[in-house]
Amino acid sequence: MPHSFRTLEDIIDNGFCIGCGLCKALAPGAVITMVESENGHLRPRASNPIQTEQEAAIMRLCPGINIHGPFGKTMGDADPVWGAVKRVARGHAADPDTRFRAAAGGIMTALSQFLVESGRVSKVLQVRADPENAVASRPVANRDAESVLASSGSRYATCATLERLPDILAEGEPIAVAMKPCDIAAIRNLQAENERARKLIVCTIALFCGTVPSLEASDDFLARRGLTRNDIVEFRWRGHGCPGPTYARTADGREFEGAYREFWVDNHWTTQFRCKICPDAVGLQADIATGDAWPGGWPKGEDDGWNMLIAHTEVGEHLLADCEAAGKIWLEDSDIEFVSDTQPHHVSLRRALAARLAAGRIAGLPEPNFSDLGLNACAAGLDPDTLAKNFAGTLRRIRAGQGDEAVKADYAD
Ligand SMILES: Cc1cc2nc3c(=O)[nH]c(=O)nc-3n(C[C@H](O)[C@H](O)[C@H](O)COP(=O)(O)OP(=O)(O)OC[C@H]3O[C@@H](n4cnc5c(N)ncnc54)[C@H](O)[C@@H]3O)c2cc1C
Ligand code: SF4
Ligand code: SF4
Repeated sequence: MPHSFRTLEDIIDNGFCIGCGLCKALAPGAVITMVESENGHLRPRASNPIQTEQEAAIMRLCPGINIHGPFGKTMGDADPVWGAVKRVARGHAADPDTRFRAAAGGIMTALSQFLVESGRVSKVLQVRADPENAVASRPVANRDAESVLASSGSRYATCATLERLPDILAEGEPIAVAMKPCDIAAIRNLQAENERARKLIVCTIALFCGTVPSLEASDDFLARRGLTRNDIVEFRWRGHGCPGPTYARTADGREFEGAYREFWVDNHWTTQFRCKICPDAVGLQADIATGDAWPGGWPKGEDDGWNMLIAHTEVGEHLLADCEAAGKIWLEDSDIEFVSDTQPHHVSLRRALAARLAAGRIAGLPEPNFSDLGLNACAAGLDPDTLAKNFAGTLRRIRAGQGDEAVKADYAD
């Protein structure tokens, strides 16, 4: 018999928490802190009991267990994997310095800068390095082009992205959000029931998100060089080139670099169970979703930095056109087949999700509130062996113990 999530512990213990910190903001009296788990993911820990209404709000809004896609009745000609498509393009920031420093082509930074500089929003909610811990990340509401640039680059690590969201909205100013798809899902959940969030969050930009690796990955990178987190004052996962090196700088000025491949393949890291069953890791709900533009999904070497991007809504389509007209970004039209070619792991995941979620049901996990995600259309035509492999893999993972149990990443599976 399907049963639902009832408590914060249900979400964490069943492996559905992604550490976004929204619950902390929704239940101030519970004094929730975001604590790094043994294997390097942030998890909420409440010091006081959570009030009944606040826990009910968490159950409705938590993006770990609530994802409502756009595949409603009006999505007739939507792409089954990529959702509503108003425009598809390949491009980059016009400013060469932004393009160089950013993760890929700097589109997220250039769009965010345009939004604040043009006065369309007062600030953009993004992430940046924790000033006290170079591998940790903090959410930040950037008000100008310089601070937006300081938030560029991919932080392949856990971050309580939404822990300050209600405070930021309480300032009453229009904002944009440039983050991961699950962060945008939480924004949409909030907007569905909160007039202020609907009015003030005027634009959402998502990155395609393969997963968030644990902080073990950066620890491993540092350990191989005889360093710990305490030794370093700067850490970059990529950027300063595309993909650019993984980079660490110590307080006494020593610099260390590693290859993109080393970070993903050689380091030990774990992934969150929730990422393995993520029904929207491609930003279906965002106005604009963007990612890397490497054919085959993996860099062949260094390049100048390019983004693939999809405008899902009119808001996104107009923002691209206006930013392009202002000379802040350079775009060439592309097509959805090329997006799929650059993101093979996302195509595979979207197609396999119905099987993975069915395994969760059979294993007796509480039922997440995932709707309008087009999962059956995605799975249509998938061969029985692939479906069976995904079903069995998810069952195995659940039986091995999910939640914060260490599960060595099997990214490709
Ligand atoms: C966890 C993670 C997984 C990714 N997986 C994929 C993938 O599967 N396929 C793919 O093509 N691209 C992936 N990317 C995105 C890719 O690395 C680039 O970030 C993306 O192409 C945007 O490039 P850009 O040059 O426009 O970004 P930039 O201009 O450098 O801007 C980066 C933006 O990302 C935000 N950001 C960075 N780290 C985080 C974080 N941890 N949480 C929330 N927001 C963050 C910043 O706030 C900023 O707004 C991933 C990025 C991350 C952080
Ligand atoms: S996903 Fe976010 S809102 Fe849900 S339990 Fe985890 S930290 Fe809280
Ligand atoms: S894979 Fe999905 S759940 Fe995991 S961090 Fe990315 S968007 Fe969030």
